[in-house]
Amino acid sequence: MFVKSLSFENYRNLKNTTIMPTESINVICGDNAQGKTNLLECVWLFTGGRSFRGSKDSELISFGQNYAKIQLCFNSCNRDQTIEINIKNGRRSAILNDVPKSYVSHIIGVFCAVVFSPDHLTLVKNGPEERRNFIDGALCQIKPSYAAALTKYKRILNERNALLKDIQKHRELIDTLDIWNDRLACEGALISYERAAYIKKLSQPAIQFYDGISDGKEQLLLEYKTGFNGNENMTREELRNSLLESLRKKQNDDIYAGFTTTGVHRDDLTIKINGYDAKNFGSQGQQRSAVLAMKLAEATVLGNEKGEKPVILLDDVLSELDPSRQDYLLNRLDGLQVFITCCEPIINAKNPIHINKGEITALEGT
Ligand code: ATP
Ligand code: MG
Repeated sequence: MFVKSLSFENYRNLKNTTIMPTESINVICGDNAQGKTNLLECVWLFTGGRSFRGSKDSELISFGQNYAKIQLCFNSCNRDQTIEINIKNGRRSAILNDVPKSYVSHIIGVFCAVVFSPDHLTLVKNGPEERRNFIDGALCQIKPSYAAALTKYKRILNERNALLKDIQKHRELIDTLDIWNDRLACEGALISYERAAYIKKLSQPAIQFYDGISDGKEQLLLEYKTGFNGNENMTREELRNSLLESLRKKQNDDIYAGFTTTGVHRDDLTIKINGYDAKNFGSQGQQRSAVLAMKLAEATVLGNEKGEKPVILLDDVLSELDPSRQDYLLNRLDGLQVFITCCEPIINAKNPIHINKGEITALEGT
């Protein structure tokens, strides 16, 4: 999958224009606050997702204007397709191949991209929730049924937690707890099974990308750690039984705490570099490399599932990386269309795009 052309009208600080990126690496250079991230954000919006900066739709419109229009022409499975997104009155609407869509979410899955922004370093630095969200986000893109199971699990978990609090006051309600244990174990087993399978699929390309980024000097390891007494090699039935057993075992602790202390909502993904936990022992560059390897691996798995590789958006990724690591990202991501931003002009960059006060220059074909 690759972007053939991209047009903006009243979008952020970018001057109205059309650009035609190359099918391989596109290096976007410019000083701070010139519009580099705005350009990547614009490409990302065609996935149908919200801004990766967490911005409101109205904030995407150029100051002083009342609408914005962005258009994308991309090639997918040897077919050219178009998406137009209009932003007006605080909301976005989309037109896919000349067919209007009532919700932008209806275009999800048509144009696929994977984005790395410095905010994603929290994947290594923060707590387990970030890592669960990463796995869940990737799985939801691949398997819509997973999203449904996740919603169901959260609902059952809330009901069980409410019951635990009630039991503190009305001990006789304890008899009803096993129904919720069963339901939670059933949905939890499905989630755990899918997470384990996804991490196995993700591991191999992630290890390879990390090996490439570190020039074979360091080794990455990803391990699924269940939030109950289960493991990555269990069948779905075994996971269900194991989760049910953990819930029953912890029942009294849970009643005392007033919430569920065991289950897939306590899962984690351990990220190790050369055998040591990257969160506690990794350097800045190693942590950045690990997140990058995981993001690129996410793109590979998505590409394998969908039959086509997504577009890669790398925002401000080069800082903190030594020249050898930078070289890998700039020259060795073969077969992928990459947009990568940087402040320093990159010597030998094949197709530099310069941005100055929102004006884009020196792009092939513009
Ligand atoms: P850095 O290297 O610091 O990350 P950048 O080139 O990525 O910089 P952007 O984040 O893309 O910069 O933002 C560039 C400018 O866009 C900012 O100065 C901001 O004020 C401006 N900007 C943001 N939203 C709008 C908008 N809706 N209308 C006009 N300008 C905007
Ligand atoms: Mg930026």
